[in-house]
Amino acid sequence: MTPTVYTMGYEGRKPADLLMIAERLDATIVDIRYRAWSAHPQWRHGALREFLGDRYARCVQLGNKRYREPANADGSRQIELVDAAAGAQYVLEHPHSVILMCGCRNAETCHRSNVARLLIDQYDQRVFEIMWARGANASGILWAAYDWAEVDSWAGKD
Ligand SMILES: [Zn+2]
Repeated sequence: MTPTVYTMGYEGRKPADLLMIAERLDATIVDIRYRAWSAHPQWRHGALREFLGDRYARCVQLGNKRYREPANADGSRQIELVDAAAGAQYVLEHPHSVILMCGCRNAETCHRSNVARLLIDQYDQRVFEIMWARGANASGILWAAYDWAEVDSWAGKD
C-alpha cells in the first residue's frame, strides 16, 4: 500500500524545488504527462531522469490522451486517461509515497484532478495537492499539502 499520494504542477518552479519536496516527503515523483516533453529542456523526460534519479518515474497510463485539445470556455479541459485502472494500480502498489506530477499550475483544470477523484472515489485513497507558496514563511516552508476531498474550500489558496 502506498503511504501517501500527492499531486503537483511544476509550472513556475525549478527541478531543484521538486527534489527538495521529494526528499522531504521521501516520495517518488511520478510524471503523469501524456508526453514527458516541454519547450523548457529541464522538464523533459531525459533531464528529469538524470536530475532526479531514482526519485523520478513515469506513469503514462495516467496521461491525458486529449491534452492537445483546447480548453472549454470555463477553463476545463477534454480529459481521457490512457488507462485509468492500470494507472491506479501502479500508484496503489508503489512502495513509496508518490507525487503525481503534471505541468499545469491550476490543479482543478488539470487532468490530475481526474486522477485524484478516481483514486478517492474508486479506491478510497486520500490524495493531497502540493501548493507552492509565493515565498517562504517564518519556518522556511515553501509549500503546503491540501486534501483533495476538501477541494471546494481551496478557493483563494495559492
Ligand atoms: Zn496538467
